[in-house]
Amino acid sequence: KNNRNNRQFAIIGLGRFGSNMAKALHKMGYEVLAIDKNPQKVQDFSDEVTHVIQADSTDEAALRAIGILNFDVVVVAIGEDVQSNIMTTLQLKEIGASYIVATARNSLHGKLLEKIGADRVVAPERDMARRVAYNLASTSVMDYIELSPKFSIVEITAPKAFQNQTLAESNIRAKYGINVVAIKRGDDLIISPLPNEVIINNDIVVVVGSNESINGLEELE
Ligand code: ADP
Repeated sequence: KNNRNNRQFAIIGLGRFGSNMAKALHKMGYEVLAIDKNPQKVQDFSDEVTHVIQADSTDEAALRAIGILNFDVVVVAIGEDVQSNIMTTLQLKEIGASYIVATARNSLHGKLLEKIGADRVVAPERDMARRVAYNLASTSVMDYIELSPKFSIVEITAPKAFQNQTLAESNIRAKYGINVVAIKRGDDLIISPLPNEVIINNDIVVVVGSNESINGLEELE
């Protein structure tokens, strides 16, 4: 097994999601194989990542020929063609791909992909919409990542109630049920701040906790 740093990724489908994901992983230095059945897409993408192959991912023989089983993570990024999305996920599961990430268009589709055996189901449109909604709706929340349906990480302007005292003094963990994992202060980033760190005006805190606790924090403003 490859360790985290040299994991190899195969991305199937070079639509908006797949192509951006392939580029992002490539930029981070990972080896990326991109696969699309459309020859034009394959050609357009040839300079972007390590390898690009034209193949129909619903074809088991084609998947084997590519050596898909050698990849640590296979992402099914086929969006519009739901049938191909499902068939590809099923084929990958059947031949024993090690870790399958599948993209869902809606919750029923997501449930189906889970039943088929996808190791991780993502819903890019839903997640991005929620993320942007959070950003727009709240004056204090700057960014938001959902960890699970119940827990999130948010970046929030430090509530007045936290300012001019140490993390220990404001007793954030006990009082609000959240953990401060980082503090952004201008260009500085303080990761895993110690209990004696003082929060000051204009600090941005990155916190992790239940959505309930986080909502409580926002009301502090
Ligand atoms: P997005 O919504 O992320 O833009 P799209 O559905 O528009 O995704 O694009 C998906 C890509 O997947 C297209 O480039 C399409 O050619 C490719 N694709 C669809 N079906 C298959 C398949 N069976 N095998 C390989 N690639 C496929």
